[in-house]
Amino acid sequence: MSQPPYMISVDEARNLLRSQLRPLQAVTGSLLGSSGRVLAESVFSKIDVPPFDNSAMDGYALAYEKGRNTYRLAGEQKAGEPGHESVEKGEAVRIFTGALLPGGCDTVVQQEWVQRDKSQIQIPEDRIRTGMNVRYRGSQNKCGDLVAEAGDLLSPGLVGLIASVGVDQISVYSTPKVGILVTGDELIPAGEILGPGQIYNSNLPTLLSFLEQLNIPTYQHQTVGDDPAQVKNALAQFLRDRDVILISGGISVGEYDFVHDALTGLGVETLFYKVRQKPGKPFYAGKYQNKWVFALPGNPSSVICCFNQYIKPALLSLMGHKNAFEPDGEAALTHPWQKKAGLTHFLKGHWDKGKVRILDGQESYNLLAFQKANCFVEIPEACISLDEGAPVQIRFW
Ligand code: AMP
Ligand code: MG
Repeated sequence: MSQPPYMISVDEARNLLRSQLRPLQAVTGSLLGSSGRVLAESVFSKIDVPPFDNSAMDGYALAYEKGRNTYRLAGEQKAGEPGHESVEKGEAVRIFTGALLPGGCDTVVQQEWVQRDKSQIQIPEDRIRTGMNVRYRGSQNKCGDLVAEAGDLLSPGLVGLIASVGVDQISVYSTPKVGILVTGDELIPAGEILGPGQIYNSNLPTLLSFLEQLNIPTYQHQTVGDDPAQVKNALAQFLRDRDVILISGGISVGEYDFVHDALTGLGVETLFYKVRQKPGKPFYAGKYQNKWVFALPGNPSSVICCFNQYIKPALLSLMGHKNAFEPDGEAALTHPWQKKAGLTHFLKGHWDKGKVRILDGQESYNLLAFQKANCFVEIPEACISLDEGAPVQIRFW
């Protein structure tokens, strides 16, 4: 495929990615550690839950008889113990929350309602209803019931539900193996002493933090100078075994921007190159077999913005998430905003209780707004002016 000759819109870029990204293969593994992953296969209960009738209260279990308010104490039933022998008529058993309901009992009276002397209890007969405070076998779900569907996101609550039905192995979509190539002769790691013309490499820590946040533990990274051979070698290596390659810098049109040529030379097919947006206009997406390559213009705000808008949803789509390209929602602008038509603007914003403030310092080299920013505000290409309170789309980290 040859390089598209035009600059595409943000919506076209999103649609191209959305329509071509497919979840990676499914793998079966432990339920433990699966939070944040997406189920590739539905989960069915192995048992009735609860597996036995049990008490919802600390109190006394009995076979309720209308008109009787005195019961003889016949023993004790703790949680986790096998069943107490069947009680006789007129008998009660001291019972604790979660304990198996002894045979013959149908009702639990909470201890606060009971007067007890050594061997018997008195209950407020007029307040008792048969079956009160009993959790019945199978009242959550029956053996064989569907409890989670393929495509569901494993939240901590859903992990708990799956464990409760006795399932410890689940099928989830794989997380991508990511390679990060950071380019730039001017870069040195934070912690070293800057020489003339040098700056600290902030994009690598940013990208690693994003992967951490997305629970993607499998990555490799390399930082190289603006040298065509180094760039090409590093990319060739990543193309061998990475599912996704992220490149920082070197994708603009300067004479030391070698990334596009290197990708083309390695046979990576351009999906798009350049998007009508600010920041991050020279953003590039390409494909090599079933691998994805994204090149991010090196200005730190462009990297953060492009990751937030495209790469995060792309990675989530590979991990089986649905609708990952949808914005997180709308918020009302706290003040009016003007811009020129022609590019979609992504602005560092601070969202709070349904309102969003566009922050100072929107230049793409300037990171200071990230002290406060918790989202990007999207102002569409054609829009030139928005009033205070106007609804805008936002995407959180
Ligand atoms: P480039 O896309 O390579 O032309 O870089 C654009 C701007 O971003 C330049 O000012 C670079 O110095 C800066 N830049 C590139 N890479 C990084 C990085 N890893 N960390 C911080 N700034 C960078
Ligand atoms: Mg550069």
